[in-house]
Amino acid sequence: MFVAPDIIQVELPLPFPLKIVNCYLVRGPDGWALIDSGINWPPALEAWQRALAQWSIRPRDVCEIYITHYHPDHVGLAGWWQRQSDAPVFMTPLEARSVIEVWSDGPWTGRQLAALFTAHGMPETLAQAVAERSEGTHEMTQPLPEITPLAQLAIPADAEYLVPAAPLLIAGRAFQPLVLPGHADEHLCLFEPATGVLLAADHVLPRISPNISVLPHTRPDPLGRYLRSFAALESLAVEIVLPGHGLALTNLHERLEQLRSHHIDRLEEMLTAIGAGTTAYEIATRIFRMDQLSPHQVQFAMGETIAHLDYLVAEDRVDRSDSEPVTYRLKR
Ligand SMILES: [Zn+2]
Repeated sequence: MFVAPDIIQVELPLPFPLKIVNCYLVRGPDGWALIDSGINWPPALEAWQRALAQWSIRPRDVCEIYITHYHPDHVGLAGWWQRQSDAPVFMTPLEARSVIEVWSDGPWTGRQLAALFTAHGMPETLAQAVAERSEGTHEMTQPLPEITPLAQLAIPADAEYLVPAAPLLIAGRAFQPLVLPGHADEHLCLFEPATGVLLAADHVLPRISPNISVLPHTRPDPLGRYLRSFAALESLAVEIVLPGHGLALTNLHERLEQLRSHHIDRLEEMLTAIGAGTTAYEIATRIFRMDQLSPHQVQFAMGETIAHLDYLVAEDRVDRSDSEPVTYRLKR
């Protein structure tokens, strides 16, 4: 359906608890641009065929493809789309690199993820189950597209996020790019000043708090950088937020406030759960019902726990000892 001026939202099914990812078709004077692609899974391909028929859009009408970050539900069908449309696929440089590193020749994720989580105290068998689940996602990202990294959208080494002065012309419409870390290191959001539309992907979601995880290749303190990136959004005249999952929202400021207070509460829970000092896995079991979670959810809970603990370390409230396993202890 049209959710903003000349912007169609296409809901694609996912084989995960999240159930649906939103992709967007943006119509401009130069044709259509596609923002995010879905995962390579037969029900998602069928959903694309139905949507294209409904809107009488031919794949060749899509002249540009932008992928907001490397996660499989966003990049998974970019290669399939590129083959049909011949359109260039654009990403921020770090996200483009992550696509290659994570999805190109196989199970780096598995081994490195298991190693990271066992180093943080997770039992070997559980870490193995998480690793296998993550390897199962690999084929849902194939074939990989040929990606054009947008060099001007790299976050400089001395900055936490990037709001470049120059707009991006997407299908001939002027969007302000915002490269905001947290959910992914160089996650791309797009703001159109003329309409007040913010294509937020997974940086701001309506119902759930975007997963902020430490994973094997994450830059340090993703949660701190995520929370500080809100400043970049708060200065924009946003009328409507089009998210990567769930319904559009119009109360961006209120939602950012809710997300902020969610993390502040979670940080307090972590401080309490640290007790006399222990591993991230132990802390995660005190906060999440780890024994009742699927391997996919265990990965999210564990990555999220390490991210919160590393935030507290960066804030100088908690000590981290890089022993085997890594332990955290309240600062005296
Ligand atoms: Zn994501």
